[in-house]
Amino acid sequence: MSARTKDVLTNILNVRKNIDETCRAVGRDPRHVRLLLATKTVPVNVIEQCILNGHTLFAENKVQELLGKVDSLSGLEYESHFIGHLQSNKVRQVIHHVKCIHSIDRLSLVKELNKRLTQHELTMKALVQVNTSGEESKFGIEPDRLASFLEEISHYPAIQIEGLMTIGFFSSSDDKVRPCFRLLRELSEQTDCSHYSNIRLQELSMGMSNDYVTAIQEGATIVRVGTSIFGQREHPDSYYWDEGPKAQDRHH
Ligand SMILES: *Cc1c(COP(=O)(O)O)cnc(C)c1O
Repeated sequence: MSARTKDVLTNILNVRKNIDETCRAVGRDPRHVRLLLATKTVPVNVIEQCILNGHTLFAENKVQELLGKVDSLSGLEYESHFIGHLQSNKVRQVIHHVKCIHSIDRLSLVKELNKRLTQHELTMKALVQVNTSGEESKFGIEPDRLASFLEEISHYPAIQIEGLMTIGFFSSSDDKVRPCFRLLRELSEQTDCSHYSNIRLQELSMGMSNDYVTAIQEGATIVRVGTSIFGQREHPDSYYWDEGPKAQDRHH
């Protein structure tokens, strides 16, 4: 086993320990928080070693990268989620390879996803991404549009909404990040979906390397951690997801 892999496995155990301790400190059951390993730029041999050591929950951020890794990991038992911005023309390519999509943020995506799933007689777990920080550069539905968006999704039954996802403020300041996570929890508690058969708001996907402790204190059920486990990435985060809806428009 390479030195890097050893470090990674140690880091996973340390993060997991922090998660468990944070849960206990706030009276939550540690089994109610899943650690999703954000593996963008992480080579498949490292991912494979994680799987062989019992860490089997992963997330990719770009469709190309997801597809590039799928073959090398075939035959291994693991669960893959998609956490990046998903362009409608790539939906076809992801539906066979992931168990949950965290970034449902617009009706056109919902329609395309439902159509492709129906064609293949599939269903898909998904989360609605909410823009809790109010930053224009962020993807995600505005909080005051959430209820009507969920009503719209209720007409597309191949998609099973399990909860909400957010990326908080990019800030090391707890005062800035915590209100984002709290808002997501409140939205989840206050939005009544009991009359929609394909929507249950029970998962809160929030918290990354810098802020997962805060997120757990505020009720996260899935934390998405990359850097603290795999080390710094070569590209800045903006390369992966701070391009934002505005930047996206400019590409068309
Ligand atoms: C990369 C990524 C993460 C993990 O971020 P780190 O700061 O590396 O822990 C979480 N969520 C999303 C959507 C990501 O793209």
